[in-house]
Amino acid sequence: TQAPVNVTVTGAAGQIGYALLFRIASGQLLGADTPVKLRLLEIPQAVKAAEGTAMELDDGAFPLLAGIDIFDDPKQAFSGANIALLVGARPRSKGMERGDLLEANGGIFKPQGEAINAGAADDIKVLVVGNPANTNALIAQSHAPDVPAERFTAMTRLDHNRALAQLAKKLGVAVTDLKKVAIWGNHSATQYPSVQHAEVNGKNVAETINDQAWLADTFIPTVAKRGAAIIEARGLSSAASAASAAIDHVYTWVNGTPEGDWTSAGVVSDGSYGVPEGLISSFPVTAKDGKYEIVQGLEIDEFSRQRIDASVAELAEERDAVRKLGLI
Ligand code: NDP
Repeated sequence: TQAPVNVTVTGAAGQIGYALLFRIASGQLLGADTPVKLRLLEIPQAVKAAEGTAMELDDGAFPLLAGIDIFDDPKQAFSGANIALLVGARPRSKGMERGDLLEANGGIFKPQGEAINAGAADDIKVLVVGNPANTNALIAQSHAPDVPAERFTAMTRLDHNRALAQLAKKLGVAVTDLKKVAIWGNHSATQYPSVQHAEVNGKNVAETINDQAWLADTFIPTVAKRGAAIIEARGLSSAASAASAAIDHVYTWVNGTPEGDWTSAGVVSDGSYGVPEGLISSFPVTAKDGKYEIVQGLEIDEFSRQRIDASVAELAEERDAVRKLGLI
């Protein structure tokens, strides 16, 4: 049988962690033939809660779960990691300035990047979920000079899935009838969920909906502000859907995208589509042989150009701010 894959999860005692860990243990992250060892990282005051989650994982008697270790030291937690899911982050509290938020997260993602650089396995793949995800990923990546930059990614799969769900409802079709939806830019309110190239059963989505006002004024803000709508309804932030998207992101990364379709992920820009090289921005991507690649050669219409540029400008500002703070 296959050797277990080491999966490190940070913020393991949090809401997303609670939903995520059980799905990893059940085999949904890497497939039903791959045993996993969980390495959980928490801050010292949350280690006890992580131990409680680990007790419940034991009680699941998951056939694929080959072990659980809990750490409060990133060096140990990332040692030998094949997959790292960086979920724990410092949330924005009331009255907190963006600079303070970025600085607090720099204090988390810089040592984690260093620990990944020092001790992760050669095939390490990193997904950053904790917000501001794109810039946190950039911070970690910049402190891991020995790891190929493309191994650091940020999650926009939840935005992608939200876009699929909204379009499927509007069109009265199944999500599986839709292809080539894309999220561009930052995982923030400026993100651009694009249907420019999207297809429903082979036909162009924008032409089929034939309502530019709905696309611009309802669809885009509904996707971009879905997190706030869920907090409003549930009294808690979205967690299970975020965990589900994290599972999808890694599963696709490892197993590939289907022929004729793509997905969305925050990946290091190579300068494609005018996104400055080095920024971790969401693009339409395909996955093959364990690598995400930016879909090349798409025509970008005027509306899309403006939306992409606005979100990418925000990413560049965040990068400049963390650079000024000495975090990258
Ligand atoms: P959650 O598990 O709900 O969220 C964790 C992170 O994911 C937050 O940064 C959150 O951003 C982000 N996120 C990304 N997408 C979504 C989404 N769609 N919905 C909700 N959140 C999203 O937070 P908890 O407070 O429950 O748990 C965080 C845990 O992380 C705590 O146990 C804490 O101790 C731990 N932690 C661990 C660290 C470490 O291991 N070194 C460092 C810091 C914290 P947003 O805030 O914008 O919602």
